[in-house]
Amino acid sequence: MPAPLDVARARQETPGCAHVVHLNNAGAALAPTPVLDAVIGHLRLEARLGGYEAAVAAAAKVDAVYESIARLIGCRPHEVAVVESATRAWDMAFYALRFRPGDRILTSRAEYASNVIAFLQAARRTGVRVEVIDDDEHGQLSVKDLERRLDEHVRLVAVTHVPTQSGLVNPAAEVGRLTRAAGVPFLLDACQSVGQLPVDVREIGCDMLSATGRKFLRGPRGTGFLYVSDRLIEQLEPPFLDLHAATWTDARTYEVRPDARRFEAWETNYAAKIGLGTAVDYALGWGIEAIEERVTALAARLRQRLAQLPGVTVQDRGRRLCGIVTFTVDGVPAADVRHRLSESGVNTSVSALTSARYDLGPRNLPAVVRASVHYYNTEEDIEALTAALGAPPA
Ligand SMILES: *Cc1c(COP(=O)(O)O)cnc(C)c1O
Repeated sequence: MPAPLDVARARQETPGCAHVVHLNNAGAALAPTPVLDAVIGHLRLEARLGGYEAAVAAAAKVDAVYESIARLIGCRPHEVAVVESATRAWDMAFYALRFRPGDRILTSRAEYASNVIAFLQAARRTGVRVEVIDDDEHGQLSVKDLERRLDEHVRLVAVTHVPTQSGLVNPAAEVGRLTRAAGVPFLLDACQSVGQLPVDVREIGCDMLSATGRKFLRGPRGTGFLYVSDRLIEQLEPPFLDLHAATWTDARTYEVRPDARRFEAWETNYAAKIGLGTAVDYALGWGIEAIEERVTALAARLRQRLAQLPGVTVQDRGRRLCGIVTFTVDGVPAADVRHRLSESGVNTSVSALTSARYDLGPRNLPAVVRASVHYYNTEEDIEALTAALGAPPA
């Protein structure tokens, strides 16, 4: 077991902790001081030297961002593209695949709305069929059902590791074991898992993975990254190219970059990119195992407290749970609960049906309240939330 985290130091290094009870880490976590300093420091450098000149001065730092991400997820630096969001990362991989009528895409009940919208667009354009893998009796992706559906017509398995709307952790490594054996590309949406639990692409066996900066990694908004394995890169033609992703080699020819940066654009927010690298280093400094242990324990405590409240139902399902806690209050719309909590200085958010129809639809849930903890949260934060819902002190 990892050594417990120094929560007092984590809070000292998180300026927002002095102002809010922040239980919206699955929306955007509070940035730590080193991330703030890195972003602002680079903006100041740009103002002083000029933007291009500042990029040259910070070239080593920018290179280090790829090394940091590679260390975080267990790949090599050239298998990483840094982009502006998890959605853009995911889209660049997905739209690089070619589908034909008769092809099938297998996805999870937990899948994020933007991913499903892209599947449906591809289905309209190409005739590819989209199938949703059943959940098992625990409420996680059924590995048996996936195995049953996998055959030579499956062109892609795309699943969400940790959904936006629940505390579930899907069995990604078991999916990877099956897709590897079947030789089918596996795209993992790790947007909510990266930063709160260990995510290693070798252990999981995914070929492509997307993640964001601002959620559990505590990086700046407007950052994300894509991992694409060397095994697949040559088969993937980015949906758009520019002079960074490719080189104009002759009057009528161009050459696409050999590495994952073929999915990037030339122009980028350097300050945010450096901030993302700093956030990754900062998370690695705490240790991802230690982060997971604290986040999981705090979330379990919150579920236990919520379950004691009359009229409150915890909605998380799954064999393995994480730092996202979802619940409903009888007779009170989720948006009103969120509003009431916000008036008490407690930040949470709402996941609505339109974010996750394949999951919330069959469960007849129009929306759930989402309280997502991070390692800098405390038992007092949890008490602040339950007190705002009318609970007596623990
Ligand atoms: C937030 C989220 C995304 C989208 O991330 P962006 O950085 O906003 O594009 C994708 N998938 C899941 C599961 C998410 O929770």
